[in-house]
Amino acid sequence: MISNITADYRARDAAHHLHPFSEMRALNAEGSRVVVRGEGSWIWDSDGRRALDGMSGLWCVNIGHGRREIAAAVTRQMAELSYTNTFFKSTHPPAIALAEKIATLTQPHLSHVFFTGSGSEANDTVVRMVRHYWAERGKPAKQVIISRRNAYHGSTMAGASLGGMKPMHAQGGLPIPGIVHRAQPYWFGEGGEMSPEEFGIAAARDIEAAIEEIGEDNIAAFIAEPIQGAGGVIIPPETYWPEIARILAGREILTVADEVICGFGRTGRWFGSDFFGIRPDLMSIAKGLSSGYLPIGGVVVSSAVAEVLSANEFNHGFTYSAHPVCCAAALENLRILEEERLVDRVAEEIGPYLQRGWRALADHPLVGEARMVGLIGALELVPDKPSRSVAFPDTGKVGTLARDLSIANGLVMRAVRDSLIIAPPFTLSFEEADFLLAAARKTLDDTL
Ligand code: PLP
Repeated sequence: MISNITADYRARDAAHHLHPFSEMRALNAEGSRVVVRGEGSWIWDSDGRRALDGMSGLWCVNIGHGRREIAAAVTRQMAELSYTNTFFKSTHPPAIALAEKIATLTQPHLSHVFFTGSGSEANDTVVRMVRHYWAERGKPAKQVIISRRNAYHGSTMAGASLGGMKPMHAQGGLPIPGIVHRAQPYWFGEGGEMSPEEFGIAAARDIEAAIEEIGEDNIAAFIAEPIQGAGGVIIPPETYWPEIARILAGREILTVADEVICGFGRTGRWFGSDFFGIRPDLMSIAKGLSSGYLPIGGVVVSSAVAEVLSANEFNHGFTYSAHPVCCAAALENLRILEEERLVDRVAEEIGPYLQRGWRALADHPLVGEARMVGLIGALELVPDKPSRSVAFPDTGKVGTLARDLSIANGLVMRAVRDSLIIAPPFTLSFEEADFLLAAARKTLDDTL
């Protein structure tokens, strides 16, 4: 039974609101979940039911919900200076402080930040920036960007083009020219008879094959998420990133790490690049930069790239690039992450604890693999364990679970293809981790 309040919300939502990534007719028939409050790891709906937010919203609320310190920092900044821009030779203290702070957290060669309003805008910026970079260096033919199948880099024209998701390309005339999608390091689904190590090498060598086919003179950059998030939490085999590094070493191809999910601690290191030993020339950031309290993203670039970009005007920018209030939220978020040692907590305390319990779910008859790094994990649901088959029917209890799950047994998880994924807040307590694990197991049991 739902309350009159919820019924009213749902009717008004259905009447006027088109949701992103939603089949609206089905959603309206069922009625959306109306979330009205968040505190710590929990969210509450309009009927007072609470759920553990196992996805940190959309992999972003890393410091947990309802932090009054962020509200206070934002309020202070709004009262001081609610808006100014960073175009036309202007700047402001929160932008200066945030760029400086990010430069101290990233690898030493990464020195400058171009601010955006989101991860998609960051990746749009990447496309223009890497092509502009090579044009500035007198190599305008270097236009192609190599990405990977099943990657997710956002929803704007360029972001969705960089992404390798077929359903997104099927709408809106995508991809834009000059984007090439090659192998993803998805051993569980595509590794066949190869060991993970062999497959990691093979997937990286497909990138090398692309470089040879297209020609280095035509290639601007290679872009990849350190761990593919929306593609199903695809954690590459250990051999993958070192082999990519070998392939790109000495080649005139920029390495772009999309750190929108991995960045700011999700893997237990400040960046996924640090975790996997990637040395990017550019990094896209968003989400964890402000823990989702306000929209802000950016592209972090090396001093070598910054120098080339600094010679002439880069005709690019957004009204909300380095929005002062969003910068203030991000600065406060980074202060909390540091002062509460939350990244270390992911690496040393709650991460290993949750990983142990999560991996134990692999004994469940429906689970083919239970993988997790830091606080980002997936369960691969399989109809037939020994075959590692990922081809599930769309129907039936398991098919429905794998496709439609968003909340069950008081736990928010997300269904991607045939996997269930989690990325809980870094502030998750041990008791909450136990709750998460029990709820995940119960959801699997309910489906048998
Ligand atoms: N890049 C990655 C790796 C993402 O996961 C996302 C969003 O989930 C984006 C880019 C797009 O970010 P936004 O939704 O802020 O535009």
